[in-house]
Amino acid sequence: MIYDKIYDFCKVRNTHGAYKNGIDEYSPRLKFIINTIDELNLNYEIIKFNDSIFKNNYFYNIYLKGNSDMMAIAHHDVYNPNCDNANDNSASIINCLLLKKLNPDINIAIIDGEEPPCFGIGSKRLASDIISKYFGKIKHVLNLELTGLGGNNFFIGKLGSRLENKIIKEFNPLVISVPFNDSMILMDKNIDSTVITSLPIINNIPDYSIMSRIHTKLDSIDSISINDMKIFTEKIALKILS
Ligand SMILES: [Zn+2]
Repeated sequence: MIYDKIYDFCKVRNTHGAYKNGIDEYSPRLKFIINTIDELNLNYEIIKFNDSIFKNNYFYNIYLKGNSDMMAIAHHDVYNPNCDNANDNSASIINCLLLKKLNPDINIAIIDGEEPPCFGIGSKRLASDIISKYFGKIKHVLNLELTGLGGNNFFIGKLGSRLENKIIKEFNPLVISVPFNDSMILMDKNIDSTVITSLPIINNIPDYSIMSRIHTKLDSIDSISINDMKIFTEKIALKILS
């Protein structure tokens, strides 16, 4: 099962946080992602770009084109290079690659520069590539954030997108106000997008403690579940994007 890749991915340590990842060359995590895509025999293109604020650094988006008008995205950069970053956002990278394997028509973008202090450098670049029709017509973008634990249970960010309404009709999930995420950048550029996060339910109560673990050692491989990743990807995300 390719979801197992998460164990090796979480062992990979970048040497810097989000805004210095590309100083030398591909970061260790980026190399791991590229190797995994190669092993899966998927076609992709790596977009290397600069930002006027973080001048000495390069950023990298990875695009896997599909024939539909649906797209899934996940950010690959990390805030704290000294922890597993399992739920934020390693699990979502693996889940995105699995989505592509399960339905090759889905467009995928693995993007850089989400974490502080970058706040959406990769999604700004993605927005301009969507607008210039790199992927053809894109109707909805589903942004996977923290999709390593929770399985069938999830919430979506309250951003007022058409995709949000579509998901509410089909799944009736929790809809909550969320902190900064790449969907906000896309919505600003008139690209319809929703952020989705898996949410464990314990004794009928949503366990929001997943949010407080991010960027710390508590966001470890032991704190997520590959079975939940599989359920989320195949029962929820795949349906939303089909
Ligand atoms: Zn994140």
